[in-house]
Amino acid sequence: MALQLETLIDTVCARIVAAEPELTALDSAIGDADHGLNMKRGFEAVQADRARLAAQPLPDSLKAAGMTLVMKVGGASGPLYGTLLMTLGKELPPEPARADLVQAFSVAIDSVKARGKSDFGAKTMLDVLGPVHAVLKDAGVGLDKVRSVAAESAEATIPMLAKKGRASFLGERSIGHMDPGARSSQILIEAVCDVLEGSA
Ligand code: ADP
Ligand code: MG
Repeated sequence: MALQLETLIDTVCARIVAAEPELTALDSAIGDADHGLNMKRGFEAVQADRARLAAQPLPDSLKAAGMTLVMKVGGASGPLYGTLLMTLGKELPPEPARADLVQAFSVAIDSVKARGKSDFGAKTMLDVLGPVHAVLKDAGVGLDKVRSVAAESAEATIPMLAKKGRASFLGERSIGHMDPGARSSQILIEAVCDVLEGSA
């Protein structure tokens, strides 16, 4: 998988920054309205470090970006996305093939579960990350399918009852809204797919 690290950083950061109002609105409905700003702050810090990150091999770059998210993002999502990126950095070889990505993503999802004491079905980012990982495992599946699974999985959090995070404090009232972290995960995955495909 040829990966332009600069393009990846620029695209991912730009998409998250552009999504700030939408993520804020989603977190206003079932959280504390800070997911958009948390993500924006974290990814702006990653963007500011672009030159240093892009000069490193992919694993080191992912680890450094993950640490930046842990340090800069307030709220639950910082340590969780930070854990995701740091674990990917630990697991991936410098020039990963798809099979490497599948394996690393599996370990990274398990790390997020452990960090958040969470699992699939709790109406969180994991409900996008899990289905995307499942579809990636099928070597015949293309990036369009990966994107559509990410979008469908984010939509599928709407009728779910939140069992983790702030939204879980709302109980039944969490039903009927998309999970903000599920949506940010979808945006991240879409950005990575676009870069891999050269359409970013
Ligand atoms: P906070 O909830 O602290 O305000 P954010 O608003 O930035 O932090 O992030 C909220 C998102 O984090 C949720 O929408 C959900 O997807 C994710 N999240 C929260 N708690 C957990 C958890 N324990 N496991 C996995 N994801 C979680
Ligand atoms: Mg919040």
